[in-house]
Amino acid sequence: MSEQDNEKGATMKLTEALEAQTKRVQGPPCAILVALTELDADDATALTAALASEMQSTMISRALASVGYPVASNTVGRHRRGDCSCGR
Ligand SMILES: [Zn+2]
Repeated sequence: MSEQDNEKGATMKLTEALEAQTKRVQGPPCAILVALTELDADDATALTAALASEMQSTMISRALASVGYPVASNTVGRHRRGDCSCGR
């Protein structure tokens, strides 16, 4: 998107740019993202599908807790709305 901008003011090296991206992340990743990252592919897919479905956040929260990811239903809801730390 900003390739041209980067060329114009090519004062930053890629290593610095990558570092800046890393620093931009605010706070810890939300628990849903952690679960999605750590779960195996099947479970991550199932979780993604559950989040996109009509399934209640409390049910997803309980299911996650039962496999070792104690995620509050509020956190599930926030992730669904994109209000969590991984939303942006
Ligand atoms: Zn999230």
